[in-house]
Amino acid sequence: MPRSDYYNDDGELTKDMCPSCGDTVLADHDDRQHCGKCDYTEWT
Ligand SMILES: [Zn+2]
Repeated sequence: MPRSDYYNDDGELTKDMCPSCGDTVLADHDDRQHCGKCDYTEWT
């Protein structure tokens, strides 16, 4: 399995997926997570 920033050593996702798209990883920002596909934003 190729290494990816999205997975830890156990092969688990380390990033949150967009609840709207389901197949898109949310981009991590300082105060929010953002989906570049549907514009979903989750404030943290
Ligand atoms: Zn999305």
